[in-house]
Amino acid sequence: MEKANIDWSSLSFAYQKTPMRYVAEYKNGAWGKGQLTDNATVQLSECAGILHYCQEIFEGLKAYTTKDGHIVTFRPDLNAERMINSAKRLEMPPLAKEQFLEAVDEVVSANAAWVPPYGTGASLYLRPLMFATGIVIGVKPADEYQFRLFCTPVGPYFKGGAKPITICVSDFDRAAPNGTGHIKAGLNYAMSLHAYVTAHENGFDENMFLDPATRTFVEETGGANFLFVTKDKEVVIPKSNSVLPSITRRSLVYIAEHYLKLKVTERPVRLDEIGDFAECGLCGTAAVISPVGKVVDHGKEIAFKSGMEKMGEVTQELYDTLVGIQLGTIDAPEGWIRRIK
Ligand SMILES: *Cc1c(COP(=O)(O)O)cnc(C)c1O
Repeated sequence: MEKANIDWSSLSFAYQKTPMRYVAEYKNGAWGKGQLTDNATVQLSECAGILHYCQEIFEGLKAYTTKDGHIVTFRPDLNAERMINSAKRLEMPPLAKEQFLEAVDEVVSANAAWVPPYGTGASLYLRPLMFATGIVIGVKPADEYQFRLFCTPVGPYFKGGAKPITICVSDFDRAAPNGTGHIKAGLNYAMSLHAYVTAHENGFDENMFLDPATRTFVEETGGANFLFVTKDKEVVIPKSNSVLPSITRRSLVYIAEHYLKLKVTERPVRLDEIGDFAECGLCGTAAVISPVGKVVDHGKEIAFKSGMEKMGEVTQELYDTLVGIQLGTIDAPEGWIRRIK
């Protein structure tokens, strides 16, 4: 197959229109059969539910070319399941797992020329989304929805090595207790943008959000989950029911336990104890793990032993193992890799 004429190594994380996307419509109480289309534009009534009461959910996953030349996706079944949970929480009609997976397969196959070749560090980012197209003026769930899945090639997250970042403890809260922090919805991002811009203006790369009820426990950054490593190489994951269940983080936990034979503990993590950890990373599809060198809590600097030059040792091993599994150089656990071509 002839690849698209792209300088794969110079790609960034930006949208680039690719030839085909999948669209399905929910009408009269049922999801219709979806289909591929070249139309990248959505046309909506001014009174569509999404525009007023924000019924929108999304997912993010990637397709890769493996070392032996296959095109694969990583655990798309978990994205399908998470999207079903997100839909239920926002009173939207869940899309069946089989249809979600069919959409993934069809879009990746139809845009195979846009899947970056092995060795470039680039990948094809897939963005499934669902939103209310039905007319709503009084507050209630809409009765019509669209599911759409499009893709765009993205570059390696770290150009020239993963440099640890500096983050700040945010004065804003991300997710209320018993709120929507655990679902992947646009609304969680809308209210985090001000915190994000404020952190950037103050010279920080990201925010550390705390639990809103007590502001003593670590939650997440708003786009990635935390992972800490103790001096004894124990992996510690902040436990909270308002954190988004990151598929990357859940996979890294499995790798830590089964590949690296490390102890993993999921428990509430207090802000005032993080200085005791040796390493800190942010887990998500975009970067796999982004190392954190320093957390600044209102002027007080909390530096991790791993420093500001490179990833911590355990973080690096976790990173290398997960990337190896995705690219087919390390044997994957059963069911993690879905081969498309
Ligand atoms: C998507 C997302 C993550 C990362 O999840 P992955 O499945 O690993 O990509 C973490 N936090 C939030 C709030 C997210 O929306």
